[in-house]
Amino acid sequence: MTNDLIRDLWFPTDRCFIAGHWVAPQGGGTLPIEDPSTGAQIGEIARGTAADIDAAVAAAQAARAGRWGEMTAAERGRILFRLGQFVRGRVDELAAMEATDVGKPLAQARADAMALSRYMEFYGGAADKVMGQTIPYLPGYTVYTLREPHGVTGHIIPWNYPMQIIGRSVGAALAMGNAVVLKPAEEACLTALAFAKLAEEAGLPPGALNVVPGLGEEAGAALSAHAGVAHISFTGSLAVGRLVQAAAQNVVPVTLELGGKSPQVVFADADLDAALPFLVNAGIQNAGQTCSASSRILVERPIYDAVLARMAQSYRSLKVGPAMDDLNVGPLISARQKQIVQGYLAQGADLETAAEGVLVGNAPAQGHYVCPRLLANVPPAHKLAREEIFGPVQVIIPFEDEAEAVEIANGTGYGLVASVWSRDGGRQMRLARSLRAGQVFINNYGAGGGVELPFGGVGLSGHGREKGFEALYGFSTVKTVAARHG
Ligand code: NAD
Repeated sequence: MTNDLIRDLWFPTDRCFIAGHWVAPQGGGTLPIEDPSTGAQIGEIARGTAADIDAAVAAAQAARAGRWGEMTAAERGRILFRLGQFVRGRVDELAAMEATDVGKPLAQARADAMALSRYMEFYGGAADKVMGQTIPYLPGYTVYTLREPHGVTGHIIPWNYPMQIIGRSVGAALAMGNAVVLKPAEEACLTALAFAKLAEEAGLPPGALNVVPGLGEEAGAALSAHAGVAHISFTGSLAVGRLVQAAAQNVVPVTLELGGKSPQVVFADADLDAALPFLVNAGIQNAGQTCSASSRILVERPIYDAVLARMAQSYRSLKVGPAMDDLNVGPLISARQKQIVQGYLAQGADLETAAEGVLVGNAPAQGHYVCPRLLANVPPAHKLAREEIFGPVQVIIPFEDEAEAVEIANGTGYGLVASVWSRDGGRQMRLARSLRAGQVFINNYGAGGGVELPFGGVGLSGHGREKGFEALYGFSTVKTVAARHG
């Protein structure tokens, strides 16, 4: 049941990490670790429950009241920066772990590990640079603001980018002096546990970071409703995001990073050679299981046929296979996710398939593979043009003019990311304003990972911002001090 990779790990996989100790879950349960490339069970993780969440929150509260809470911002920053360097030193191992656990092609998993390192460097460097204000007020007053941590922050994360999301949310929360309880997704816990081990080695005090693997409806639900948690950061689906927000009964702030149906809008004057790799990669990266995947390509009518032909050509060269073979596309995370994506494709049977990727001959039959599919001439109102599929499926939609492009782009209820491809400066600026999204890219998409760039949604894509300096404001609260001294 346990493969070589799991056997050789330098931390226990079937434990929770609470108060600096690797402890068995109180209910004694385990959950399987599956390799999506083969469909085989390769080990077990802990099935943490409400009792383990209670212990983790208590440990985090104790850390806040103890050494972690008393530490200077500079000291916190130093530990986080060191942690970033420890991550960097283990990048290849973390990449192999993630590729095996999530089914992500090795190079993409390696990029995630590098991003985790970079997040810790960024937030380590930022920890002692968050300052308050002095505010001119009435005569005889001195008024200033303090930025204070919330206290204990709960982090519920999905399986698609565990390392990136740990970096951007846990990194920022720790930088501000919060103590963290992290509930990774049951499908992908290995790198969260590895991160805890590296944090321990880097000198993070016990209880500042606690990791409780487990099911969403058990450990996740217990964390989102816990009275000792002062802020929830949730990244995942719209359906669960709604539950988490409703469960935060103690009127605590909730950051929701949800799904998307992000468009790239390509005008007739665009540099197509520059655009093409972005148009395709943003759709098939991580087998389309990316919140900010660009699953809709809107193309101005005069170049529609040319864009379609060139994208179709790229699709036909996409190779799909095991994550460790490091091809263009790996498997989906699970049999369930494959079923969801195939269900969408069945509902799109009326649509024109322009091209598909190719499954390599050695891909194991039990792996969760779905070949990327490019669907042409899709009506904007079609279900596949409106809903998040979370698989390697892109739709191309023609448009006639700028006004129609904006209407289609803004027409799904989601608003995470959008891009504009055009050489016209005025149009670039107009669309940057009119597109409904948390991030707009001009003549690019995704901007190289964007550790420094505030990220988050509007509408059904959620609220609150992570990444960049903005996340530090989200993971802290402002206290105004008004002194009357005459
Ligand atoms: P999911 O909502 O099923 O699960 C996310 C997390 O929530 C997991 O840890 C899960 O265990 C937990 N959970 C499940 N039920 C819960 C409950 N009742 N209470 C509390 N926690 C619960 O999402 P998923 O399928 O793992 O991830 C895919 C979704 O995540 C997609 O919609 C994707 O767009 C979104 N996503 C968004 C971002 C972003 O930054 N906006 C990033 C990555 C993924």
